[in-house]
Order: sequence, then structure tokens, then C-alpha cells
Amino acid sequence: MNGLIQMNLFELTCQELAVELRRRYGKGSYHAAAIFRHLYHELDADVSRAPSVAAAPHLAARLARDLHIACGRVVLEKEQAGVVKFVTRLEDGAQIESVVLPMVHHRTVCVSSQVGCRMGCRFCETGKNGLARNLEVAEIVGQVYAARKRFGPELRNVVFMGMGEPFDNYDNVLKAIDVINDQRGLDIALRRITVSTAGLAEGIRKFAAAGPPLIKLAISLNASNDRLRSELMPINRSLPLDKLKTLLRSYPLKKKYYFLFAYVQIPGVNDQPEHAVQLAHYLEQLPSKVNLIPFNPGPNSPYRAPSEKESERFRDLLIRRRVNIQQRSTRGRELMAACGQLGSTAYSQ
Ligand code: SF4
Repeated sequence: MNGLIQMNLFELTCQELAVELRRRYGKGSYHAAAIFRHLYHELDADVSRAPSVAAAPHLAARLARDLHIACGRVVLEKEQAGVVKFVTRLEDGAQIESVVLPMVHHRTVCVSSQVGCRMGCRFCETGKNGLARNLEVAEIVGQVYAARKRFGPELRNVVFMGMGEPFDNYDNVLKAIDVINDQRGLDIALRRITVSTAGLAEGIRKFAAAGPPLIKLAISLNASNDRLRSELMPINRSLPLDKLKTLLRSYPLKKKYYFLFAYVQIPGVNDQPEHAVQLAHYLEQLPSKVNLIPFNPGPNSPYRAPSEKESERFRDLLIRRRVNIQQRSTRGRELMAACGQLGSTAYSQ
């Protein structure tokens, strides 16, 4: 070693890489862009094969010594009805999950932002054991990279709806977005990225003030009144529904954008006629779409999944109240491909 620590490539933006290359080898943006392109565009982790690096064997040798990629390893891949779940074992042995969902013209990867979660939502598998730790930038980027490697350019959308609360790991999530958005690399457009929060006020404010406005914001709502939401989602006690709505009404939403509200339907708990009425009332004056997700019970879950008939009945109640809904198919139910539904096999193993 030359006294300099190894660089974890997935941890760096292209600009940061250029700074490091200049500091270490007197190279700069040109080589950084070439390495980025080779790694993320050609999907080849051996960046010594990037043309401008391969042409300089001395540089290639130094890069081989100084660079590495540490983001965990996919140890399990399961497919059901086109939905693919990846389990990744991280360097410290913790496990996280990500899910690739097939859409009409593309695929979307749902990524995790933390190992566990401290929000404690009652219906959620991830939150059961609390928060173990935040994911590093490389561990977030690695999930998107693995999905792109598996599905190619069809993989165009990223949603932060997997394990963890993204705004509880704000800086790493935003930096990972910077990396996956870079046009020299994975080139995932900001308008194709959605960050979902359970309602962390500070995160929403920061995101509104400084976050790239093209990124979409989703709210994990799951209840239509404070009593029920506080019971299902303890975060509601610090940001009750009216305060959440006030915050969203002041959010600088771009033209033609809307808030995506995730609503996990738990039969007999949050899917009664009065809930449809309350939800419709709550969403008035908020440009919104509701993503209705059938609850997907994990082991020892206190709730059950809705039947097809119950799902239809609640959807019809909402439609009659003019709620703009987007019902997610139950495909992949067994793979638990929904926010708050990942993590049953996760970090304890
Ligand atoms: S639903 Fe989301 S915010 Fe709530 S505990 Fe689960 S992962 Fe955390």
C-alpha cells in the first residue's frame, strides 16, 4: 500500500472520483468519466479495462491496487409472477432485500435504505426488530447496480420503498441518488426516482428545500384518522395527519406532479366505509394518487391479507369517493414486494 486508503468505487460520485484521481495520480475528470462509464454503463467492475485506463498500464495497476467495490453480495434471488426479490448479504453479515417489479414498458427496483427501521409500524416486518444501522451509499447503489446487471436498460425506475425510512438516512440516500442519476453511469432520470417516507417532518422539509425537485415524493399513509394511524404508525404521534397535510400543502410540488400515498389495506382495520370517506376528505386539495396495496402477512403477523373481494370492495368505495387510486396487482404477494412488507428474512440471518 502507498499509505492511501482503498477507495470503494460505489461510494463515490463522479466528481469525487475525479478529485481522488487528481490527488493520487495527477489524473482528473477525463479518467473519472471513463471509469464511471465502464463501471456503470458497460457494467464491468474491472475498471482497468476501461479504454483510457487500459492504455496506461501503470495507472491500471495502481487502480487495481487502490480501488475496490464493497456493497455486499446477492445471496438469494427468488421469482414469482415476474416479481424478483434479491437478498443481499452485506460485508458485516446483515441482510437486506430489494425487489424488481415488472411494469408495462420497464422495470422498477424497490430498494432498501436501512438495515431494519426504527419507525415501528405495526404491520411491518422490517420494523419488528428496530434499526440495526443505516446503509452506506455503496450498499444502496449496489442494489440498483445488481438489478441493472440482471435486467439491463429496461430497469429504469427506482423507488425507495424497501427496508427502512429513507429520510432517516437522508445524506446517504441523496448521495446514492446522485450516483445512480449520473448520465455517464446508470443514468436513471430523477423523475424516475421516488422516495417514500412514513412522515419524517424534518426530512420532508429538508427535501423540499434542497432536494432535487424532479424526484417524486411518496407518503406511507395507511390510515385515514389519527387514532388509527398512531396505532399503526407511531410516527403519527409526532406528525399528526393535519400537520402532515399542512406540510405537504407547502411542499414545492412541480407542475403535473402529485404525491403518491401508499395505503396498505388491512382487512377489518383500515378498509371500512368510514375510512374511505375520511381518506377522500383528507386528500382534498392535495394532488394525489393512492397506491392501494393488499396487506401481505409475514410470520406471526397480527393481521391477515384481504381477499380479492375485500380488495375490490374497498377500491370501489374509494373510486365512488373520487379518490384517484392506482391499485397494485397482488403479483408478488408471496415475495412481499411492498413498502413495509420486506425484511422477514433479513438481518437476523
Ligand atoms: S413501514 Fe416503512 S417506515 Fe414503517 S417500520 Fe416499516 S420500513 Fe419502517
